[in-house]
Amino acid sequence: SSPNSAAQAEAPAAISLEFFPPRDNAAQERLVRTAKQLVAVGPSYVSVTFGAGGSTREGTLNTVRTLQGLGYEVAPHLSCVGSTLDSLSETLASYRKAGIRRLVALRGDMPSGMGDMGELRYASDLVRFIREESGDWFHIEVAAYPEMHPQAAGPDADLTHFVNKMNAGANGAITQYFFNADAYFDFLDRATAKGVLAPIVPGIMPITNHSQLARFSDMCGAEIPRWIRLRLASYGDDKASIRAFGQDVMVELCQTLLDSGAPGLHFYTMNSPDATLGIWKQLEL
Ligand code: FAD
Repeated sequence: SSPNSAAQAEAPAAISLEFFPPRDNAAQERLVRTAKQLVAVGPSYVSVTFGAGGSTREGTLNTVRTLQGLGYEVAPHLSCVGSTLDSLSETLASYRKAGIRRLVALRGDMPSGMGDMGELRYASDLVRFIREESGDWFHIEVAAYPEMHPQAAGPDADLTHFVNKMNAGANGAITQYFFNADAYFDFLDRATAKGVLAPIVPGIMPITNHSQLARFSDMCGAEIPRWIRLRLASYGDDKASIRAFGQDVMVELCQTLLDSGAPGLHFYTMNSPDATLGIWKQLEL
């Protein structure tokens, strides 16, 4: 295994959790219940998405405050697509005021049909901008794509852009979710060979639903291996069987990742506690 994974294996695995801003009061109550239950996992921080699914900057900041109120260290996601430098600057100032010390810096995706309206084009530009504006105040995570970002020209170009993004001042990375452990280890080796020594934490998407997962995976370029697709399809509407199978698959994947030196796990909780708790309880951490 790579020097990167060997060095990472010495530290205990860091767990982090991702939430998204709720759309209404009922969803807000659900989020609070979920976040309280997931305290059990002992995450080193939790993150809150930005812009995805039409959420707003205010939505992210409100959710950040809610989670801070529960005692969590919170990392808001910040994307540069569609934002002016002034508004990014304001957002950074408001996060500093709120005592935020961590960010997940992203390009984001423009809703289809809208042009590229941001003043910054790539996440690497955003990382550079954050460092110019706020020095070392924030610990910055960026996104990594073991199975390649869907818009990249090719795996090598994507890796080069990732390395440039790290070198722009990121402290670590979180991956897009994947179900092929080898894709992650291959990416780790290639990034290490290019000098990236910062932790690259696998993003973990619990499997709870077949059609939604298939749709989402197509969009973000994550492969669902044939054997998993066939098993999920075979359960039809039997949600309990999908969940039970999904949990087995994810426990196996997470344990493989941890045993081979992944520095931690970042759970995409989907604002719901059961699947994440179910996996976490079965891991040897
Ligand atoms: P970048 O790193 O900028 O890369 C985007 C593409 O541009 C890649 O194909 C890359 O190879 C290419 N590229 C980079 N630099 C150059 C260059 N100089 N020249 C040519 N090509 C280049 N989206 C949201 O809207 N809100 C969220 O909260 C959110 N959270 C996320 C969290 C994680 C952990 C992950 C993995 C993704 C998240 N996303 C979120 C999705 C993300 O915004 C999309 O995947 C987006 O398409 C790419 O963002 P990025 O930061 O990876 O972009």
